[in-house]
Amino acid sequence: MSKILVINSGSSSFKYQLIDPESGERLASGLVERIGDSLGRVKHRCAGETLEEELPIPDHTAGFAEMERAFERAGQPLDGSALAAVGHRVVQGGDEFFEPTIIDDRVAERILALGVLAPLHNPAHHQAIVAARATFPDVPHVAVFDTAFHQTMPPAAYTYAIDRRVAAEHGIRRYGFHGTSHQYVSARAARFVERPLAELKQIVLHLGNGASMCAVDGGRSVDTSMGLTPLEGLVMGTRSGDLDPSILFHLHREAGLDVDALDRLLNSESGLRGLAGTGDFRDVRAAADAGDAQAQLAIDVTTHRIRHYLGAYLAALGGADVISFTAGVGENNAALRAGVCAGLEWFGIRLDAALNEAASGVAEPRRISTPDSRVAVLVVPTDEEAEIARQTWGLVGAAA
Ligand code: ADP
Repeated sequence: MSKILVINSGSSSFKYQLIDPESGERLASGLVERIGDSLGRVKHRCAGETLEEELPIPDHTAGFAEMERAFERAGQPLDGSALAAVGHRVVQGGDEFFEPTIIDDRVAERILALGVLAPLHNPAHHQAIVAARATFPDVPHVAVFDTAFHQTMPPAAYTYAIDRRVAAEHGIRRYGFHGTSHQYVSARAARFVERPLAELKQIVLHLGNGASMCAVDGGRSVDTSMGLTPLEGLVMGTRSGDLDPSILFHLHREAGLDVDALDRLLNSESGLRGLAGTGDFRDVRAAADAGDAQAQLAIDVTTHRIRHYLGAYLAALGGADVISFTAGVGENNAALRAGVCAGLEWFGIRLDAALNEAASGVAEPRRISTPDSRVAVLVVPTDEEAEIARQTWGLVGAAA
């Protein structure tokens, strides 16, 4: 059986999953974290069991060696013959990478170079790619880019209205992120409503710690809420999303905040955390339910911003056939979904309160709109790793 190892890496950790690309079945998964700390940790899950070990993990190469050991200890050694390919999630592909790409030395270099546009992500991906290629030198490594799905956006949607020479020189445009999720969810939703993807106008709401929305016309992204970086758009766990850029000049001039302080403020200390003191939506909801007015305001601002984009995408698409909620908050928080869809009957959007409240539990899509709702409103659990495995297999399976 061919298996794909999917890697989702950060600067001091990486998550992995071993997936059968044809069935999408998850054969094992795990997390290597606190790389570079005095004590690192490996957590490996396989066949309902979790193996955990704490030990120093000085760098990503050591991390991959520990991951291999974990597979061995679980009786599922990852020798080359069991592995068809390694698929790497890469956040920023710039305007160079439109599709899954076999990683050679040049591609690895370009991923690092695109770190100018994604300093929090691409350098970490590059570290993991170098280590993973050294660990598994005989299997193809494939990069699957978060930005790739959005390369179909028209210029009107991806162009910022600034001096075009400055924009061209510095690669300033909307790239969009979460593309793998938006692509997976829109395809899954089409199968669920049993209509051809090519005929559907869809809006996908990926609401997790990071959050973005996407207008999908006939299976192609035509607009999305994240921009040059994942900071633009919706209110997120710790990111502000949209604001008037003059706020930055103002805070620089009046409060003396420098570039790094502003970066930290908007990426790490804003969003739900800035408004309500915690970036975890469950805690914000619990606080709001207990009467905390700031937490309630945080939810109201979040909802207002989502509806702003919902209106924009209904206009961009000329209406919608399917609206899908996905990711941690989108899949699990019925009250937020109800708030987002409230009063939109004129647009053909009618939620069924009981279906919306029903617990998700299973990893299958479900409909939460009434039978007479012109727009099918769905909850569609996302699975970025399965999509990365599918795309990786699509590239290497044909050659195998
Ligand atoms: P990411 O992958 O971007 O880190 P997730 O998609 O896992 O994020 O979403 C994390 C968010 O989902 C957190 O804000 C968390 O509070 C929220 N979440 C997870 N489970 C639930 C739940 N049962 N009810 C409400 N929110 C939830």
